Order: sequence, then C-alpha cells, then structure tokens
Amino acid sequence: AKKPAGNTIRGKAIPGIDNIIAVASGKGGVGKSTVTANLAVTLAQMGFRVGLLDADIYGPSIPIMFDVAGEKPLAVEVAGKSRMRPVENYGVKVLSIGFFTEPDQAVIWRGPMAAKALNQMIFDAHWGELDFLLVDLPPGTGDIHLSIMQSLPITGAVVVSTPQQIALADARKGVAMFRQEAIRVPVLGLVENMAYFTPAELPDNQYYIFGRHGARNLAEDLDIPFLGEIPLVQGIREASDVGRPAALQEGTPTREAFEELTRRTV
Ligand code: ADP
Repeated sequence: AKKPAGNTIRGKAIPGIDNIIAVASGKGGVGKSTVTANLAVTLAQMGFRVGLLDADIYGPSIPIMFDVAGEKPLAVEVAGKSRMRPVENYGVKVLSIGFFTEPDQAVIWRGPMAAKALNQMIFDAHWGELDFLLVDLPPGTGDIHLSIMQSLPITGAVVVSTPQQIALADARKGVAMFRQEAIRVPVLGLVENMAYFTPAELPDNQYYIFGRHGARNLAEDLDIPFLGEIPLVQGIREASDVGRPAALQEGTPTREAFEELTRRTV
C-alpha cells in the first residue's frame, strides 16, 4: 500500500487510515458509485482492510449497492468517547450520508450542513485500522468537494468517465479541480466506464455506444495514467441493484476487469 502524500499539509491525518482515495466524476450517472463499490470489494478480496465513505449528498447509492439500506450505524464507546461504527458487508466498512436521510425524501443539503455531516462520518466514526478508505464524491466540482479536500488528507483521486464527449468535458474539469493550487490532490488516473457493449449472441463484437477510447485519449491529453476500461454489462447493473457488487462473482470477465483496474490504481 502507498503511504499518504501531503498528510501534513492537508487536513488532519486520521490515525489508523493509511490511504484515502477519492473517486470523482464530472457528470452524474457515469458509474462513479458502481466503480467505487467494485473497487472496494475487490480490494477487500485482495486482503486489504477497506472502508467506503459515501459522500454523494445528491444521490447516495452505496447502501443499496451493499445491501445495507435501512441499517443504522450503531454507537460504540472508544476510549471514553461515543463513536459511530460503520456498517459492514463483503469485508468493507461502509458509512453513507444515506443512513441519515429518509429513503423517499429529497434532502436539500446546504453546503455547510453537508460538510458537517461528512466531517462527523470521517472524524467521529470508528473506522479502525484501514489500508484504504474510498470516498465516493458527489458528481461535479462544487464547494462540498473543496470542503472534503481541505478537511481530508487525500492520497489521490480517481476520475470516472464514459467515453461520451459531454462526460469527458466534465471529467476534464474534475481533473482541473484536483490540480488547483488550493487542492493539489494527485490524480491517480482516469477510468473509462461503459467503454463498449458486447451482446451475448455476438461475443466477438464490441459496440462503442458512447464513443471509442474517449477517456483513454483524455488521459493521454492530460498526461495522467489511464487505469482501464469497464464495459457496459447488464450483470454489473443487476448486481448493483440486488446489493452485491459484480466484482464478487469469481471467474467472470467483470471480476478480472475490476482486478486489473484495482491493481493499476493502488
Ligand atoms: P454515478 O455514481 O456516476 O451517478 P452509478 O454508479 O449510480 O453512477 O451508475 C449509473 C447507472 O449505470 C446505474 O444504474 C448503474 O447500475 C449503471 N452502471 C454503471 N456502470 C455500469 C456498467 N459498467 N455496466 C452496466 N451498468 C452500469
């Protein structure tokens, strides 16, 4: 595992947490949460101690993807202090802003309120010892990002995009955000999600529904690593919906794709 960079200049270090990896996207719906969930379970399968903080205040989807929607984190006493204990499934410790909202209610978080809730989930939680804490950021480049970047010692950021032009334009802004003077988070690389589609009856065909190699080319253009491509697969969507990330299915091409992505990321 990599050692955190800039731990001393940015935010408070979190004792026991070796690496914090932020997963971002410019545009919503490109599969940022899906990629985060699958990276998390893959890291856990590789034997790492993993936490996942779902900071997507606009649409927290991690509880459903981990089949823990409706659960509430319990309080535990640690060194005389009451701490929130993350919910655990598939070897991943999970905290989500979704645990603190009603399922059918649209919660309009104001910036400072969201930042406060996130800070509590980070600093008042009992994460224990972790090799990796993944943070599923909200889409875009808003003030909530700034607040997370400034309060957390982020090791690096992964940016997810589809190969589609409008998604790439937003991913470019995302990378620019991490490179800003006030933020300066190293970009670990770009992931191309929904890279192509292969119908079951035409296993040798790849259809580039959202365009071809867009994220790969953008990575080259921005001089950041290209971490790999994940195809558009019905099983990936289905696995998310039933709450068991697809990368947990052994011996499948999806599992292999996420293993390769994970190895290149860490
Ligand atoms: P975001 O976090 O960027 O908003 P999600 O991870 O919620 O995006 O994904 C958006 C939708 O696309 C979800 O329904 C998800 O199941 C689906 N999805 C994401 N990646 C893939 C993929 N590689 N193959 C099939 N469906 C996917």
